[in-house]
Parts: sequence; structure tokens; C-alpha cells
Amino acid sequence: METKTIAVLAGDGVGPEVMHEAVRVANAVVERFKRSTRFVEGLVGGSAFEEYGEHLPPTTLDLCKRSDAILFGSVGGPLHQAHLPKWQGCEANSILALRRNFALAANIRPARVYQQLLAGCPLKNEIVSEGIDLVIIRELLGDVYFGEKSTWSEGGRRYARDVGAYSEDQVAVVARVAFETARKRRGKVTSVDKANVMQTSKLWREVVRETHRDYADVILEDMLVDNCALQLVRNPGQFDVIVTSNLFGDILSDLAAALPGSLGLTPSASLNDERFGLFEPSGGSAPDIAGRGIANPIAQILSVAMMFRFSFDWVDEADALERAVEGALKDGYRTADIFVADGEKVSTAEMADRIIERLG
Ligand code: NAD
Repeated sequence: METKTIAVLAGDGVGPEVMHEAVRVANAVVERFKRSTRFVEGLVGGSAFEEYGEHLPPTTLDLCKRSDAILFGSVGGPLHQAHLPKWQGCEANSILALRRNFALAANIRPARVYQQLLAGCPLKNEIVSEGIDLVIIRELLGDVYFGEKSTWSEGGRRYARDVGAYSEDQVAVVARVAFETARKRRGKVTSVDKANVMQTSKLWREVVRETHRDYADVILEDMLVDNCALQLVRNPGQFDVIVTSNLFGDILSDLAAALPGSLGLTPSASLNDERFGLFEPSGGSAPDIAGRGIANPIAQILSVAMMFRFSFDWVDEADALERAVEGALKDGYRTADIFVADGEKVSTAEMADRIIERLG
């Protein structure tokens, strides 16, 4: 039996607490489905800085290179300590470096509003009553973040420029991820751009349409980014898979992350074109609640489900895990961030226990 090696980088704040539970849940799934995995821990972020003086030490990077996937917690410290060397550049030196190192070009962020948690969704009931279950796929390695940057003065005025560029290959990689993802869901892709004014968007639209020829079973629609922002608030139920560029995706995925009601619920994945990936909660290290055993482990646990589904192709295992999470929520178990009066408040570890019990 093939053994999958997983680099476990818990990081800072609530990272180690939720990671401990996610690995426990993952092991329960692996045991049930008679799979073989090896979880190997590595230091990253502030905790790595304390030991090695850097946020992504070579030993951690080597571990990732030897692994089949990276399960990431979160990094970073409290905002009032941001000036300390331990925290300066922490995210860029760890997460961005890993993205670059492994060419993780596609970021996948699901936003799902569970029926049981409709009250936590900031949108009106009549808008969300049909439910929300969408995925945003964002290109991660191109656009204005990585193009030429400059600032200059001319005639006593200050100017700045960030050049945004895309190659057709960069667009095709994420378009394929979007169509493949839609095939395993409800079969619809919304490609979001600003093709009425931007050259990069015109190329984006063309390449997405060309790539679509290999996926005739998937419905493709184009949408301008300003309209997409409006539609995500007015009628989010219409979306299945949204695919978009780095800058638009950055903004839209944060908007969508607000819909489920807590960052403790939303996982994410960053994949390269060989489906090697980094899987992590969408939120940060939540220093305000760290060390109290009250963090919600669901985002980290659902990151494991995404790893099973996207990197290992373990679809039954991912389905079982997602069903168990839904079951625990349906039965009323709530960590503090999603607690409502009629639920039962549980700790980080108890939530993981309730999920393990529902694996069948
Ligand atoms: P945050 O996402 O850590 O927290 C925002 C809010 O969400 C807080 O109230 C927090 O308690 C809550 N929250 C987040 N995860 C939760 C969970 N699992 N359970 C319950 N509640 C949860 O954002 P922030 O406070 O702006 O940033 C804190 C630190 O995290 C900063 O140093 C920031 O740079 C870093 N950060 C890291 C990542 C990452 O590692 N990918 C992402 C974003 C922010």
C-alpha cells in the first residue's frame, strides 16, 4: 500500500491547537478507509524563527520537498507585536515563499453556508435560504503582485506603477483547475474579469474560452468583476465555481469568506499543475483566542478533506469527512465563534471528538 507523507506545519497562535485535532481526525479517516499516511511535523513562522532565526528554515523546506502534500496551520503574531523581528515578514517569508517554491498557481477557497448556521451569515435570510455552496479559484503567481513596480517623481508630482501581466499558460493552468473542479460539483464555471477595459482580462477571457473546448460538459459564463461583487451579495446561490485573476480573486475571496460567518469554518488549498498542494484555513493565527482551547478546528479539518480530494484523489475519504463535519453541526455542536443559544458549546478538542464519532 502506498504511504502518503504529509508535512505538518502548524505555525503560530491557534495553529498548533487546531492542527493537533485535524491530524487526529485525519488519522481516524485513514484508519477507517485502510489508507497509509505519515504525518511529519516541521517548524514555520514565529515558532521557527525562535529556533532557527528564520521563518522557513531549510529543514522545513526539505521536509515539504520530500512530502506528498503540505498541511499548513497559520503564522503571525498579535498586531501589537508586529514590530518585533520574530513577526516581521513572517507571512511573506513562509507562505509566499512556499507558494513560489512549489509554483502553487491555483488557490481554491470554498465558501459554504451550512443550513444549520444560516443565522451566522451576514446576508438576509431570504437571500441565503436556498443555501450557498461556491468555490473561488484564484490565480496566485501573476498579475500586479508580481509585475514590475516603480515609483518616481516628475514635475513635482509623485507617480507609482504596478504592472500586471499574464501569459496564456498561466491562465490555462487555473482554467483547467476550475473546469476539473466544476466537473466534480454542479458543473458551472463563472470566469470573472474586466474585459471591457483591461488587456490582461481580454487574454484571460480568450484563454478560458479556448480551454473550455475540452470541457463541453461544463457550463461557462463570463462576468465582469464589479458585477460579480454585487452578485455575491445579492444572489450568491447562483455560483458554483468562480475562476479569476490574482487581484480580483484576493478581494472576492475575502468577500466570500465572510458569508459562512466565521473564519474558523473556511478551508483553502493552493495547488500546482501536478496537484501538489498546500492546505490551510483561510483565516490567520487568531492570537486573540490562542491557548484557550476554544478555537474552531473545522477550517483545519476541512483542509484535510481538501488534501484528500485534490492531491490524493481520495474522494470517498473527503466525502466522509465533510459529511461528519456537517453531521456534528447538524447535531448542534458549536465552538464559541459559531455558538447560538440552542446549540451545545464545545471546546476545540470536543468538536474534533464529535466529528470523529460521526465518521461511522
Ligand atoms: P485572524 O484570521 O487571525 O482573526 C480574525 C478573527 O477571526 C479573530 O477574531 C479570530 O479570533 C477569528 N478566528 C480566526 N480563526 C479562527 C478559528 N479557527 N476559530 C475561531 N475564531 C477564529 O486575522 P488577524 O487577527 O487579522 O491576524 C492575526 C495574525 O494572523 C496576524 O499576524 C496576521 O498577519 C496573520 N495571518 C496569517 C494568515 C496565514 O497564516 N495564512 C492569514 C491571515 C492573517
